[in-house]
Amino acid sequence: MIISMKLHATRAEIDEVRRQVEHFGYKVHSIEGEERVVIGVVGVGDVTACFESVEAMPQVENVVRISAPYKFVSREFRKDRTVIRVNGAEIGGAEFAVMAGPCSVESEDQIMRAAEGVARAGAKFLRGGAFKPRTSPYDFQGMEEAGLKLLQKAKKATGLAIVTEIMGDREVELVAQYADIMQVGARNMQNFVLLKALGKCGRPVLLKRGMSSTVKELLMSAEYIVAHGNSEVILCERGIRTFETVTRNTCDIAAIPALQELTHLPIILDPSHATGRRSLVPALSRAGVAIGADGLIVEVHPAPEKAVSDGAQSLDIPQFQQMMQDLQPYIQLWNDSRKKQLTAAAAR
Ligand code: PEP
Ligand code: MN
Repeated sequence: MIISMKLHATRAEIDEVRRQVEHFGYKVHSIEGEERVVIGVVGVGDVTACFESVEAMPQVENVVRISAPYKFVSREFRKDRTVIRVNGAEIGGAEFAVMAGPCSVESEDQIMRAAEGVARAGAKFLRGGAFKPRTSPYDFQGMEEAGLKLLQKAKKATGLAIVTEIMGDREVELVAQYADIMQVGARNMQNFVLLKALGKCGRPVLLKRGMSSTVKELLMSAEYIVAHGNSEVILCERGIRTFETVTRNTCDIAAIPALQELTHLPIILDPSHATGRRSLVPALSRAGVAIGADGLIVEVHPAPEKAVSDGAQSLDIPQFQQMMQDLQPYIQLWNDSRKKQLTAAAAR
């Protein structure tokens, strides 16, 4: 249920509505807006009595029920897109976001070369895992805090914002000290303990779709983070598992516009994990821009043949620079069309 207060409602009037909601046994989950305060209420069961009572309060403009099971992340809750601002760049706004870097942080030389290369090509975000979810326990598991420190060094040298994976709820505080964006990998999309902890981490979260998860399950996972206090969530399509084997995963490209109908959260595409093959990354990236994703997250390594993880799907730096150059006309069209959408939204 969303309660819109009349313009310039006072603190006392807002508190009165809150008390009324609580009287019916429901919880106020968020209050937002400067001019007009909007109160989000989530309750289990029949909310009719609460709805009617609050609707009759003089300081309330109107009350709307949200039919979707995901409340705060749904389009019904917010008509305008969520824009996430990080380190002077934005995701979901007027600027197409490009995140790039190696699968794993491996050494100072590797991450510095990757960071300088992707920054020169125009990326604003550096990706790189310091905690790695690997299928085999015998494979490289990540440099952990030493890797986070190298990412910090790369940020200092290049100004890039850092996107790095968080695997367990016990590491949230540590990773949040270094990360601008906390990445939740496909394997952890339904780690509900972790999602709840990320509600309080104070950083935007990049939530990757689980390899066997539906779009609605992805949204329910995003709802966990928002319901626990963090409204800055970026969704990521990274391919799902199907019977097809020619690509590592099957990119569900239609999930991007489908998600845009259902949620106000930004959505990016990972063409690297979606294909598993570097030769396919430029074409899929182009498709991502054309279909209206808010950005890309691409694996780039200074020497992919030596990468400890995901070398086969990583572009080298010249390949990434070429791809960025080839994407420019598409990004230009994206910018023009986004500008139109934002102008239309502002006029509503
Ligand atoms: C990664 O980004 O390196 C990664 C492990 O991705 P995913 O969680 O999508 O498999
Ligand atoms: Mn990877």
